[in-house]
Amino acid sequence: MTRGERAIELARDVGFDLAGIAPCAPPPDAARFEDWLDRGHHGGLAYMARDRARILDPRLLLPSGKSILVVGFAHSRPAVDLADRGLPGGGRVARYAAGRDYHNRMLKMLRRLARRLKQEGLGDLRRPVADAGPVLERSHAARAGIGFLSKAANLLHPRFGPWFFLGELLIDSELEPTPVPPAGSCGSCRACIDACPTGAILEPGRVDAGKCISFHTIESSELSPRPIRERIGPWAFGCDVCSEVCPWGHSAPDTSAKWGDSPSLVEGGLLRWLAQTEPRPAWAEATALRRPGEAGLARNAAIALAHAPSEAGRDGLLGALSSHPSAMVRAASAWSLARAHAPDEGVVRAIEGSLVREPDPVAEADIRASLDQAF
Ligand code: SF4
Ligand code: SF4
Repeated sequence: MTRGERAIELARDVGFDLAGIAPCAPPPDAARFEDWLDRGHHGGLAYMARDRARILDPRLLLPSGKSILVVGFAHSRPAVDLADRGLPGGGRVARYAAGRDYHNRMLKMLRRLARRLKQEGLGDLRRPVADAGPVLERSHAARAGIGFLSKAANLLHPRFGPWFFLGELLIDSELEPTPVPPAGSCGSCRACIDACPTGAILEPGRVDAGKCISFHTIESSELSPRPIRERIGPWAFGCDVCSEVCPWGHSAPDTSAKWGDSPSLVEGGLLRWLAQTEPRPAWAEATALRRPGEAGLARNAAIALAHAPSEAGRDGLLGALSSHPSAMVRAASAWSLARAHAPDEGVVRAIEGSLVREPDPVAEADIRASLDQAF
C-alpha cells in the first residue's frame, strides 16, 4: 500500500464517504476561475476577488504544502419542503442545510484525520478547509478523482451525484496523487441549464453568482433585484433546482438519518423566520441556516411567502411591514404583499401607510415600486 492509499484509507476510517489526493498547486483550470472573476460573475462574492491569489495557489495558504487530501461527505436526502412538515407558510430549503450543521462536523473530522496522518508519519503541518475556505475545491477534487466537473459548475460523483460536501486537508508531505477520476460526463444533457429559474448558468460550467438564488438567499445581505425576486419561487434558503434535475443524483442513497433535522426547521418555519427580530436566535445556532443572519432569514421568508399566499402569511407580512426593525425586511414584505395579495384593499392601504412612515430611502423606493406593481 502506498502512503497515498493509506491516507485515503484513514479518511474513510474517520467517516468520509469519498477521498482522493491532488498536488498542492494551482489546478489546471485556474485560468477559467480568473476569467470568471474578470467578467464579474462572482457577483457580490467580493471575498473571491480579494482572495484571488490565495484561492488560485494553495501554497499561499500553506507554503510547505505538497499535497491536498480532498474528502467528500454525502448529504443526499429527499426534497425539503417546509409545508410537507406541517410548518406554516411552506417554503423550500436546500437539502444540505436541512441537517444539523455540517461545517463544524466536517472540521472536527478533518482535524481527527490530521492527527491520524501525523501519528502515522504521513504529514504534519496541515490546514483543514471545509466548504467556505479559500481554495478552488471543486477543481482540486476533480484532480483528486473525487468526481467530474459538470455544466452546472459543480462536481458530480457516479453514486452521490451532486449531493456531497467537500473538505480539504493541506499537508506538507508528498502523497501519491489519485490517478483515475470516476467515469462520467454531462454528455449532451443540459437539464440544469434549461431548468435554472434565473438563467444563472450562462454556459456549460459558468454560473453568474449575481443571478443565482443560492447567493441571494444565503450570502447576500441585500434585497435581491426585483427580476430575480420574481423568480425565487418557494426557495427560502439556497436552491437545489440544478441539482434536483441532474440525472446523476437521482439514485443517490438517502443519508438523512446521518444528519437529522436542524433545529431551525423543526422549531422554525417561514412565519417564525419572518417574525424573528432578535439577533442570533437560539434555534438557529449550530445550523447552516444562521448564515444570512436573522434579517436575511426574515427577508427570505417574506419573499417565499409570495409563492404560496395564505391568510396567516398575509398577517405575518403585514406585521413585518409595520414593525420589523430591518428596512430590507419591510421592503421585502411590501413586495410580497403586493405580489400575492394586491387586490385586497386593506393590503394596499397598509403598503401606502408604510410608505409614509418608511425612514430608509432605499426601502422607500422599493416599497413605492411594489405599490405601483399593486395597481
Ligand atoms: S442554484 Fe438555482 S439559481 Fe443557482 S444556478 Fe442552480 S438552479 Fe440556478
Ligand atoms: S443536469 Fe445534465 S448537464 Fe447539468 S450537471 Fe447534471 S448531467 Fe450535467
